[in-house]
Amino acid sequence: MSAIYTPPPDARQSASLLLLRDGQAGLEVLLLRRAERARDWLSGATVFPGGVLEAGDRAAARFVVGSSDEALSARYGLAGGILDHALAAVRESFEEIGLLLACDASGRAATPGPAWADWRQRLQRREATLADACQALGLHLDLSRFFAWSHWLTPPGTATRFDTRFFVAAAPPGQAAQADQGEATELMWLPPTQALDPQRGYKLFPVTRRTLRELAAFVDVDAALFAAARLPAPIPRVMPRHARTRQGPTIVVPDHLAFAEVCKLDPEGLAHDVMTELVAGQPVRLSPRVLRVTAPNPGVMTGPGTNSYFVGDPPEDRWALIDPGPADPVHLAALQAAAPGPVRWVLATHTHRDHSPGAAAAAAAFGAVVLGRRPQHAKGQDPDFAPTREPMDGECLMLGSASTLRAIHTPGHASNHLCWLLEQEGLLFTGDHVMQGSTVVIDPPDGDMGAYLRSLQALLDEELQWLAPGHGFLVAEPHAVLRALIAHRLAREAKVAAALRARGQASLDEMLPEVYADTPQHLHPVARRSLLAHLLKLREDGRAEDLAQGRWRWIEAAALRPADAT
Ligand SMILES: [Zn+2]
Repeated sequence: MSAIYTPPPDARQSASLLLLRDGQAGLEVLLLRRAERARDWLSGATVFPGGVLEAGDRAAARFVVGSSDEALSARYGLAGGILDHALAAVRESFEEIGLLLACDASGRAATPGPAWADWRQRLQRREATLADACQALGLHLDLSRFFAWSHWLTPPGTATRFDTRFFVAAAPPGQAAQADQGEATELMWLPPTQALDPQRGYKLFPVTRRTLRELAAFVDVDAALFAAARLPAPIPRVMPRHARTRQGPTIVVPDHLAFAEVCKLDPEGLAHDVMTELVAGQPVRLSPRVLRVTAPNPGVMTGPGTNSYFVGDPPEDRWALIDPGPADPVHLAALQAAAPGPVRWVLATHTHRDHSPGAAAAAAAFGAVVLGRRPQHAKGQDPDFAPTREPMDGECLMLGSASTLRAIHTPGHASNHLCWLLEQEGLLFTGDHVMQGSTVVIDPPDGDMGAYLRSLQALLDEELQWLAPGHGFLVAEPHAVLRALIAHRLAREAKVAAALRARGQASLDEMLPEVYADTPQHLHPVARRSLLAHLLKLREDGRAEDLAQGRWRWIEAAALRPADAT
């Protein structure tokens, strides 16, 4: 645990409070809508109560019960200091909405008395501190249902920067929130999904939007507080980034698919020019060794389009092109324009028609050789793929003395699939073995679920920093992503097993609606292929048998031998 956190000097220390209650439609959170006012950065915005720390807040520490500076600070990985933020949140909540997280000396929830309004006004006018109010009213500040939630830092390049700790608390019982007329605000208790509803037209900052999405996952106050109390420490600091779309400037936050990539390319948040869209033909430099050009082939199965990657050794100026994409003269021209140097190798991760058909023309244009494995089956494959050589699993391609690409055979999505690992950066070009934001198709017989899971598992042994998928942005935390993919497939397998087991015998069409109830109807033809892949995997595991006429039968496992149970 580090004892000190040094916030950027231009950021003001602040705190926000997510006050929760159980409403008729489930969890509700308190939001304030500010009036439209000139020269007010909050003008018209819908926000959580909160504000900056005041020097006088700290004196109220002696009135706190139910939590401590040590406990709250530990959640942020700090030895101390966070109670100041918590007290600011408590004070702001009293000032802005009249709710005070307080109890009397015997621990009973405080009930508002006639003096409360006066103290609220004195706090607003900075004529008194929270400690003065507690002293005069004979109250303690009850933080027993008050927890750390998140930590956000406004990115550089914003007029006013805030370093904000978010807390979550159950609204105090027996008190009614009242808007502070001086601030000209409107109070709203809303289910998070309603606050997010575009129909309602609330002006929400990215941090508010993201926080509402987080809260939307909980059915009631207890569930949200339970989760807050168990958040892994330290709660990370999140800094959104100024970035760009084709339309102009934007702000990107963590649940955007581009966020990890934007953070990699703009670590300090000073560049402001990283794109949050994959624009066909527009090269993106991902590292000194890696440049991406997306093909103009977006679609249901290709997402934003196929990514072609130049990978090289800048000092020796020797480059490879991974996945030339479709045979499209427009894309080839974009690749030629973007090529960072002489291209010696054209590599195909696999031979689906969105990945390899451009290989021959690219190889001819660059004077390169083609490396990749020939397809084992005809369906959906590029029939013209003619590699100069078929790489072995584990084969290393020396791009230069300080840049090595290692081939990793990863059958599953396709039997001839290769991932390429740029060893010096722990950056894995995943082709379609891992796509960003969607599940890859496993279509038997070339697709093989058992092989797919083994290929994912094998990658867990590699030292990986980033995944560079065939479709999508760079993906951070590769091992967590790989584990999630394995868990997702095993969860689906469990559904298949349960559906077959319940029936004893069944056809694919009998099981499909149950196993893929969460998948949109229009994707069911694709899901049907995945269902078959799962059944073949279960057959491989000795748990299913395919009968005549496309019917399958469940096989109950033999009793485990003691040796298997260890
Ligand atoms: Zn593919």
